[in-house]
Amino acid sequence: MYRVEQLIGGVWGAGGDGGDLAVTDPADGRPVSTVPVATADEVAKAVAAARGAAPGWAATDPAQRGEVLRRAADAVAAVAEELAHATTAEMGKPLDDARGGVAAGVGTLRQYAELGPLRGGRTLHGARSAVDLMVPEPRGVVAAITPWNDPVAVACGLLGAALVTGNVVVFKPSERSPATGWLLARALDGVLPPGVLSLLTGGAQVGAALAAQEVDVVAHVGSTATGRAIAAACVGSGAKALLENGGSDPLIVDAGIDPVWAAEQAALGAFANAGQICVAVERIYVHRDLAEDFVDLLAERAGALRAGPGRDPDTELGPLVDRRHRDHVHGQVTAALAEGARLRVGGTVPDGPGAFYPATVLTDCADEMVVVREETFGPVAPVVVVDSFSDALKRASRSPYGLSATVLTGSMSHAQRACRELPVGTVKVNAVFGGAPGGAAHPRRGSGQGFGYGPELLDELTATKVVHLAAPAGGHW
Ligand code: NAD
Repeated sequence: MYRVEQLIGGVWGAGGDGGDLAVTDPADGRPVSTVPVATADEVAKAVAAARGAAPGWAATDPAQRGEVLRRAADAVAAVAEELAHATTAEMGKPLDDARGGVAAGVGTLRQYAELGPLRGGRTLHGARSAVDLMVPEPRGVVAAITPWNDPVAVACGLLGAALVTGNVVVFKPSERSPATGWLLARALDGVLPPGVLSLLTGGAQVGAALAAQEVDVVAHVGSTATGRAIAAACVGSGAKALLENGGSDPLIVDAGIDPVWAAEQAALGAFANAGQICVAVERIYVHRDLAEDFVDLLAERAGALRAGPGRDPDTELGPLVDRRHRDHVHGQVTAALAEGARLRVGGTVPDGPGAFYPATVLTDCADEMVVVREETFGPVAPVVVVDSFSDALKRASRSPYGLSATVLTGSMSHAQRACRELPVGTVKVNAVFGGAPGGAAHPRRGSGQGFGYGPELLDELTATKVVHLAAPAGGHW
């Protein structure tokens, strides 16, 4: 059982007058963590204390900040196993996936430790007697508000990039994975100067109170509705909003594709982490020529997944994060069935403890169904049969989101059309997951704004100043 503490002004255990929240294991309902809830006053105090620590950290040599971040990565690696277990206990994902998320987080910290000091500004071609520069500067206080679905990897990205570029951070992890956030913050704080990192805990209200403060950046990874509320708060405060939000990623399966391989890809994309991945496959457009075989094979794969607690090494499908989320997922499935979708497999809430939900395949789906249009964030694969690649592209493009999309095709011209025409940040051809290191895209529409990853995140978290240095009285220095 974890007893989470806040970190305000360099002091662990500060505040928490807003009461306590409890987190239970979504596999069996056992208590996992108790977590203090910050009051609005504590949020304001944390931001004021962070503001006080900002000048010292901003003035630290970039190479030294990189060295601190390298040590921070080592400190996180040293507690990797504990972080993975906390992740699985709080949000349910299979332990090996949780280990992968922690390893990805450590890797990101190491990358930013190297890249941060190397990424400079520019010199400009001004008058010969002058020096003209574009200089990146830390923005100041960054509020990092993060989700539960890959809690270490996501937080390490935002925190690492913000810290190495000389910002101080007020970190608010999800109320569904607070002990994971607390363990991470403890490891980082052990090597950072006091006050450079603060930790606030609690739910949406705490996030909202933080986003409304006079911080310099609010970096949010989470749902689109929250991202929009944060953007509105930033309009009021003048803070920059950096948003990596929800998606409803399409998978297009073209004619001529091996249905066995296509079903493998679809199952991986739709059911990994029980569908709780921002770039999970959320809707499938399959060509009529192979639709029947594809659906049979996908339903077979869905039915064969071994469900169980994430800590069990044989588990392929863990529980959903909690029952509130399961109600949301099941509500979309039930509504689709009422509107004419057909259930091929799954779709029923199992008896017993926890928040389990079976891998579910729906056919006869229509574009306007909520399960197709909106983000489900569960192990649900709604299938729409199409008669042409053009039709698939058109329907895949009609979405309130624009995070990423996958196309399975053997046709180079179809691949090229997909890359050009899909209004999303990332297009993947012939692989639902994967891509080169350092890839960072602009999400479109309701999926967010700005670069939330990669080297470009370092630029997002700095402000550029132009400097013109002329010699006195037009003479010499
Ligand atoms: P969420 O937005 O509900 O919560 C994320 C964080 O925001 C939490 O810390 C929460 O307390 C806080 N929050 C909630 N309401 C707030 C408000 N009004 N003001 C300020 N903060 C508030 O999202 P979630 O349910 O934790 O995460 C799942 C979502 O995250 C999905 O939509 C998923 O697609 C998205 N996600 C996106 C990416 C990406 O890179 N695009 C990555 C991971 C997850």
